Amino acid sequence: MPQIIDGRAIARQIQDECREKTAALAVRGIVPCLAVVIVGDDPASHIYVRNKKKTCADIGIASLSYELPADTGEAELLSLIGQLNGDGAVTAILVQLPLPAHIDEGRVMAAIDPAKDVDCFHPMNVGKLALGRPAYLPATPAGIVEVLKRSQIAISGSECVIIGRSNIVGKPMALLMLRENATVTVCHTKTVNLAAVCRRADILIVAAGCAKMVTAEYVKEGAVVIDVGMHRGEDGKLCGDVDFDSVAPICSAITPVPGGIGPMTIAMLMSNCLRGYDDLSQMRI
Ligand code: NAD
Repeated sequence: MPQIIDGRAIARQIQDECREKTAALAVRGIVPCLAVVIVGDDPASHIYVRNKKKTCADIGIASLSYELPADTGEAELLSLIGQLNGDGAVTAILVQLPLPAHIDEGRVMAAIDPAKDVDCFHPMNVGKLALGRPAYLPATPAGIVEVLKRSQIAISGSECVIIGRSNIVGKPMALLMLRENATVTVCHTKTVNLAAVCRRADILIVAAGCAKMVTAEYVKEGAVVIDVGMHRGEDGKLCGDVDFDSVAPICSAITPVPGGIGPMTIAMLMSNCLRGYDDLSQMRI
């Protein structure tokens, strides 16, 4: 049987480390503060925001939340972001996506002060990431690198294949794996002979958003399989982009859904909140 990577346990370790850092900051009278902005009433987004606030409280990060109605205008949202940018007590800002269709996400992301952009969506932070000098680390891809490292899986020199080229997962994932010296291939809907390309992978990272699409024929014997997908089946159970029962017998390690990459995203967000605060506090001293 493969190693079933316990993302919940690794996320707990990271959160414990974050708690130690906030305790050390508290001794200096410093409390980092994350401002979370949500527009509209998408139930899943509200659950994500609630979880982020709960984790902040657990770790010792203050949080502020701004829950705006779905018909909020872009100008009003940009004005709130301007106010949070200028608020010295707010060290991190996160605008929960997706935003309602009448609001331009790109303009909103670009309005966040790059020094407080803990989601790493500001074009300047994306550019720094591409240059290999990241200010913040994109949470889900950074969580995957952390899971690999803490599971003693060698990245340097490995063949890494990523399914998905989104701005949130696939593209930043490729940049982080390059930074770790993997040889990276990024696949997408136009990739020809996807299963054969995936079979080259020592590390296969799947972020396609298609439930259980990756079956045994996509996986080389002994590969490590990281499942980023998150879906709720008709039976009410969560599943990923990987058909776990088909793939698990062939691979050497695999992340389950739930309990794999999901918990890591929030842990890395917390870690980013402290990274940002360190930078700011150094500037203040
Ligand atoms: P997305 O829809 O923005 O991007 C999906 C990408 O996969 C696209 O680039 C597309 O080209 C590619 N793709 C889709 N179907 C494909 C196919 N059949 N063959 C090859 N390529 C294909 O999605 P996303 O935001 O990157 O998220 C991907 C998945 O990860 C979703 O299930 C999402 O819910 C999940 N997710 C989980 C977390 C987490 O914290 N666990 C975070 C972000 C996203």
